[in-house]
Formats: sequence, structure tokens, C-alpha cells
Amino acid sequence: ARSGYEHFDKDGNNLYVIAQFFPRMAVYSDVEGWQNHQFWGSGEFALPFGNYEVNITVPADHILDGTGVLQNRKEVFSKKMMDRYEQATKSFDKPIVIVTQEEATEAEKGFSEKKKTWKLKADNVRDFAFATSRKFVYDMMAVDINGKKVMAVSMYPKEGNPLWGDYSTKVVASTLKSYSKYTFDYPYHKAISVHSKNQGMEYPMICWNYGRPNEDGTYSDGVKYGMMSVIIHEVGHNFFPMIVNSDERQWAWMDEGINTFMQYLAEQDFGAAHPEAIGKLDKYPSRRGPAANIVRYMSGDQNFITPIMANPEYVTQLGNNAYGKPATALNILRETVMGHELFDKAFSTYARRWEFKHPTPDDFFRTMEDASAVDLDWFWRGWFFSTDYVDISLKGVKKLYVTSTPTKKAKDFARERGIDLSKNPDLVYTISEEDEDFDPKMKSQNFMQSATTLQEYIASNKDRIINTDISNPKYLYEVTFAKPGGLVMPLIVEYTYADGTKEEVRYPAQIWAKSNSEVTKVLVTDKEITNVQIDPKLETADIDVTNNSWPKNETESKFDKFKSQIKN
Ligand SMILES: [Zn+2]
Repeated sequence: ARSGYEHFDKDGNNLYVIAQFFPRMAVYSDVEGWQNHQFWGSGEFALPFGNYEVNITVPADHILDGTGVLQNRKEVFSKKMMDRYEQATKSFDKPIVIVTQEEATEAEKGFSEKKKTWKLKADNVRDFAFATSRKFVYDMMAVDINGKKVMAVSMYPKEGNPLWGDYSTKVVASTLKSYSKYTFDYPYHKAISVHSKNQGMEYPMICWNYGRPNEDGTYSDGVKYGMMSVIIHEVGHNFFPMIVNSDERQWAWMDEGINTFMQYLAEQDFGAAHPEAIGKLDKYPSRRGPAANIVRYMSGDQNFITPIMANPEYVTQLGNNAYGKPATALNILRETVMGHELFDKAFSTYARRWEFKHPTPDDFFRTMEDASAVDLDWFWRGWFFSTDYVDISLKGVKKLYVTSTPTKKAKDFARERGIDLSKNPDLVYTISEEDEDFDPKMKSQNFMQSATTLQEYIASNKDRIINTDISNPKYLYEVTFAKPGGLVMPLIVEYTYADGTKEEVRYPAQIWAKSNSEVTKVLVTDKEITNVQIDPKLETADIDVTNNSWPKNETESKFDKFKSQIKN
């Protein structure tokens, strides 16, 4: 649901979260013309910006807050509430309770016959929503957004405590700081998190969030992190799509995917800033964002996978399609393809360039490229327009030796082409241990022991040889990588040497430009290579890691173990 109310049997009160109750204008965009697709349930809203003046009359013992600046605070707040509110505007480290749980519990019994009118005024917002109840506990704190004061606000029934009093407003404050850091300074004067039992839904300046403790006030980690994550997500929607106003009816990923990516960064920031909130964990347990978490979806049945670039009504697995996969794609772009500096510059340029405007997907793709000077066409094509997955494998590692004696392969090659090798005495040839004319004696030698011409060349051209990292080249390897998956990705390889040292080499995605299925790298080393591992930190969402290592990792999968047990 996106609005509604909850009835509390025990005290007979309702908690209202109200939105979508008035007709609104369709968007006319310069690119698409009128957006007049009907609402079918998944594709959310395409909305123009507008100014609102809303007066809402409710029972006098209700608390109310919503989109916009409250025009008559002194009329609707008690003296006590006004004093606490003044304190809250100066409290940057913790929330100040405006209506306490005791006061809210007392108000639950009142059922006042009197009325009060709350007056709200909002400029340049794409929607309007409000929440009201006599059950509301109400707290606030001030947040410093680059010198501008914004209020982080929470409203929740006593049934949400102690969880809500402990965390909601702090999560709101941290979210506003994180998003402002990566996009633009939050332009509104407040952001409200309302506890509504089963909803996670966003509106300008206000959102509804789930996360209900048990009746005795206890709660699981699942409930706690679910509540924190949904607050970060829904408050984050103020930026995407409430301000960077994409067309939700046509492109769910432009707000949900981009926002879920930002949610991941904000979750990590929150965990780092509030270690007391994540207990024994060393970082916030984000569900979406890390590459490995999308593997199950991307390796699944292709009948139920749709490209990200699809209308939300025609998508299967909307959560993975419009939230998880685009969030992961952007995270991989930031961590592995572009790096933080370039990505962050380009991403904030996109947000600032399209603040209070209507961007299309092309505007996002284009800005990410032109603000970073990185060609990402290959990335958008694979991740956003196809259902391909990443699978890069290690096909083989060959130890090579160089010899001045023509090998069998070379002789065959020369004969077929009528070349006389004896007329080219300076030629050298590579040979591997698998070749039939390989002389096992070479195994114990430096790889170019049998190539006197090469040794002489290197000796007399020392200053012209560019790669001087290796002062004493001893080994020559040919490493072959294959790409059974359709997606192009940087090739991240960790080489382990006989002395136990490791070296990570990152070949850019362009390595696949001229050869889509297989590439070979030749390496000269001073130490023997004992192990090669592709994507050692699981950065690329590679769906099959059993083909990522040399020597092949022989550990049985759980399934294989199960099968062999059955056979026995
Ligand atoms: Zn959302």
C-alpha cells in the first residue's frame, strides 16, 4: 500500500498516513510529450512540480505533520511543545522529544470533540502527503547540511518503541548528510519518518516506514536492520525521484535503482558513524549493493529475467530488476570500473544537473560519461539493455621457454608457407612443456637459457627495454582467459608466487574489445607462479567462480558432495 490507516484495537485509535487523495496534472516533457500511461500498480508516478497550500482540520488531540512548512505552529503546538521544539532546533547530536510516550499514551484516551487546523505550505514539490494520529510520539533533531539547518523528524506510536525512539530520527539525519554529500545539499527544511506498520513509501519531506517490535518491546536484528534500511531508502527518495524528477511510470530503475545504490552508501555511512547501532558487526549489513549478492538473480532462469531498460509493468522480479541489479551495477561501476573519484564527480554532476528537472535514462548515461570522460557505452549496453551475466574463466596457464632451435611447430609452419628457417638465424621460438619436442632439461633452466640470440639482444639493449620492473627475468608464462558470459568486465587477476607473495593486476574491460571470447596475456616474472585467481574479492558478480582459478580449485560444491553421498 502507498497510504491508508492502521486501527489499534486496544485503545480504539487510528494512525493515518494519507496521500494520493487529489487529482494531479500529467507531466508534459520536452522529450516524450504527455505522460498519460495509466496506473497499473507497478509503474509509480510521473509528476510535475507545484506549490501547495493545504489546511487540514483534525481532532484537537491529534498530532499532524506533512509536506511543507507549518504556517501556524504556535496555534497547534502547546507551550510545552513549543519549548521543546526550540530546543530541538539547537540539538545537532540527538533527538529532542516534542511529544513523549507518556503524553501520547494519555492522548490515546481523550477522543476530543474539539478540532484544530494545521496549515502547511510547500513550494516546488512533486506531491503532497501527511500523517496524523493522537497516538504519535514526536521527536526531532537539527542537521547541519553545509551550514544550512534541516530538521530530521519522526512520528511513531508507542508500539514502535523502544526501536523508533532509539533510531528513527538519527537514521533520518545520517541519511540527509550522506545523500547531500554525494548529490546536492538537501533543499527542503525537514524530512519526516512516520512509522506505519507494513508500508515503505515516499513523498516529498515525509515517508512511511515499517519495523514493528514485538509487544514486549523486543525485536530481532532482522526487524531492526529492516527498519533502518527502509528509513534510509524512503528518506533517500527525497533526492530520487522527488527532486531529480524521473518518470517512475516508465522507468522504475531511475528512482528505485539509483536510490538503492545511494541507500547502500548511506547504510555504510550510518554504520561507520553509529557503531553502537550495529552491535558486534564491523559494518552495516546491507542487503543490496555488494556484487556477490546479485549472482543468484543474474544466473537464474532467463525466462524470468528482463533487461533493466523495460517498463515496470512488463518486468518479472521487479525487486531484482529495478532495485537490486541497477544498484549493484552502479556499485561495480564505482568500485571496479571508474573508481570513487571519477564516479562520485560524475554522479553528483548528474544529480545537480537534473535537480528539479525531468531526466531520461539517456541523460543519466550521457552525464556519467561526459562528466568523467570515460566511455561507458559497453557497460550500459550489457548491464542495462541485456540480460547477460558475467562469467570470466581461466582457460589455462602455460609455462613457456625460448629457444634458438626451431621447434616442430615452427618447422611445420615454415614448410606450409615455403619459408626457409635457416635463412633467419636470429629467430627465436617459444616452446611449452606440453609440446612433443620439448626437452625436459629446459625445466630446470632460465626460460631463455637456450636462446642465445635473445640473451645477446637483451644484454645489448638494456636501456631500451621498457619493462624494467623485472631485473632478473626467469619465467615466461602464457595465461589464457575466456569469457563464457555475455557481459564485458575488467579482468581482475591475482597472481601468487612460489615465495607466497601475491600481486593483483587489473586489466581494463577494453581488453575484450578485439576478442570477445578469449584473451591471452604473456608474463615475464622473476618468481615462479603457483596460483592464478580471477576476481579474488568477488567484485564483478561472476556467476561461476569454479572456473576462476589455476590450478583448478578442486573443492567439491555442497551439491557434488550430496550427489556422491547418494551414490555411495
Ligand atoms: Zn523505493
